[in-house]
Amino acid sequence: MTILKYKIFQDDHPILKKKCEEVSKNTENLQDMIDTLKHALFVDYKKTGAGLAGNQIGFSYQILAINFRNEEQNEKHLNEIWINPKIIWSSKKSYEMFEGCLSYPNILVPVIRPSEVKIEAFNEKFEKKVFRAKDFYARVFQHEIDHLNGITFLDRASDLSRIKKIKK
Ligand SMILES: [Zn+2]
Repeated sequence: MTILKYKIFQDDHPILKKKCEEVSKNTENLQDMIDTLKHALFVDYKKTGAGLAGNQIGFSYQILAINFRNEEQNEKHLNEIWINPKIIWSSKKSYEMFEGCLSYPNILVPVIRPSEVKIEAFNEKFEKKVFRAKDFYARVFQHEIDHLNGITFLDRASDLSRIKKIKK
């Protein structure tokens, strides 16, 4: 296993505004990028990160990790990597929540999103998987898939005037 040197790209860095490339089995250094993404979220940012997209740590590829910490959803297979993830269905019902982001560590942004989504993606072995995410994890998937498309929560803010600053 190779963990590459990485940093979390922040604020208005152009890598966060660019759509990430789709991944194939032939993508160069794919396993190293996956190992590094997992290490970043499941070890280094285990306590503070709910999800992490490849481009947030400098890999402009469609890979993301979700940190399932919720007891009832804490099934091991969920903490796999999600490759080329797509939202194939979203509920009509939506709600607003203040979201945080490792790339914008000092603010919380109100965003209205569907409360349930269905995700289609591949795992590390390139097996297709479909997952129905609810509530908090539906939100995390939408936030992270937005990252992979070069969209940040600021682009989705329901009201920029209500952004909260996090006091240190
Ligand atoms: Zn984020």
